[in-house]
Amino acid sequence: FKILFQNSKSAQGLVGLRNLGNTCFMNSILQCLSNTHSLRDYCLHNAHRRDLNNNTRGNTALMEEFAKLIQMLWTSSGSEAVSPSEFKTQIQKYAPRFVGYNQQDAQEFLRFLLDGLHNEVNRVTVRPRGHGEDLDHLPDDEKGKRMWNRYLEREDSKIVDLFVGQLKSSLTCTECGYCSTVFDPFWDLSLPIAKKGYGEVSLMDCVRLFTKEDVLDGDEKPTCHRCKARRRCTKKFTIQKFPKILVLHLKRFSESRIRTSKLSTFVNFPMKDLDLREFASENSTNAVYNLYAVSNHSGTTMGGHYTAYCRNPASGEWYTFNDSRVTPMSSSQVRSSDAYVLFYELTTSSPEGRRDMLTWSCVGNSLCGRRNVFANMRAYVHVRVKPEHMPPTGNNADGITSSMHHGWSSRPGCTFLFRIVSTLKTKTCYTSEFCFWFFLVGFCIHIFPRLGRWVG
Ligand SMILES: [Zn+2]
Repeated sequence: FKILFQNSKSAQGLVGLRNLGNTCFMNSILQCLSNTHSLRDYCLHNAHRRDLNNNTRGNTALMEEFAKLIQMLWTSSGSEAVSPSEFKTQIQKYAPRFVGYNQQDAQEFLRFLLDGLHNEVNRVTVRPRGHGEDLDHLPDDEKGKRMWNRYLEREDSKIVDLFVGQLKSSLTCTECGYCSTVFDPFWDLSLPIAKKGYGEVSLMDCVRLFTKEDVLDGDEKPTCHRCKARRRCTKKFTIQKFPKILVLHLKRFSESRIRTSKLSTFVNFPMKDLDLREFASENSTNAVYNLYAVSNHSGTTMGGHYTAYCRNPASGEWYTFNDSRVTPMSSSQVRSSDAYVLFYELTTSSPEGRRDMLTWSCVGNSLCGRRNVFANMRAYVHVRVKPEHMPPTGNNADGITSSMHHGWSSRPGCTFLFRIVSTLKTKTCYTSEFCFWFFLVGFCIHIFPRLGRWVG
């Protein structure tokens, strides 16, 4: 029975999606998301229900239909293609631009979809008022951290846990050298396609072009805070916080709304070990990614077709998802000049780490239900923490949060001490566990000296 179950196509998520009339853009993205294993598990384990129950704003239909669709792709008994029509109805209610049967842009669709899902499962029920104190006097890293925590105070969901990173842009005045920084969350990066004159460019070239220092001059001149005047400035992007799932959009179309031309340049992207550390604001960050899905666009701006290439999370094999058809493919075929949206996953050190991460996220979620938890501990809760990445002991809560957001060097064996720190920081959450150990140790100290006497 087990072998039968494993061989069943549907049990592996290898089920196609029916085309409802130019809906290949939607099907392509849905298959990429279906093969995003953390998101898939969130739906399969019904974890989204807890977040939906928390939702006081009312709308829950988009997430419900999305989860239902994912569940059908991974658990339905037949291997016949599934119709996404009910899901389509809900996404159209959320974003009326997708009404009708016109070909749409897959990346734009992804943005709308993730935004819609996030809004329904946002753990924040009451958003704090105002923007709080000015952070410009703080060192950059501290400012980045605070800005991220501020973001989480408003936008905090499973979708944010997975897809959202933080971009730092630095503006330097060419007159006085004053540098101002701005931190913004990002859901994906739109990369310009570097032109080399030849047919092929590398993905790293595109990222370099995206982060390249830019000169703002003429009409674009910003106002320098020190000079108190408009000055010629240089602007540069670095990545402050790397998301767990990195979505890279290759800007193949000259304009997203009215498509006038398409670049069919072959962008050579790595399947494994995409190392983005050179683009990090800080050196110590983990920023190595593996590819697991690609949304492809073939054809021209006028008449095109979308497909998806996805690596099955269970088997590691690649498949082509072409609407209702799902066929195995060789990993050597994944790279093509049709690649349009790339889905990368941040590498984790070991499967052991992943299992522990799950445990920690459970601890986190139970903590999360408590309103009296310190705000920065809440930030910890929503970042999947690996025990081997625990911070050194004696850290204050801010230290913990900072380490969480920026990755740590390996420090094995700190788990227990980290827990003690957590206990002291959150005071209430671990009370029962803490008391248990306290009394156990106390009992042992009490009993051992007497034990010798009794035996003797
Ligand atoms: Zn200046």
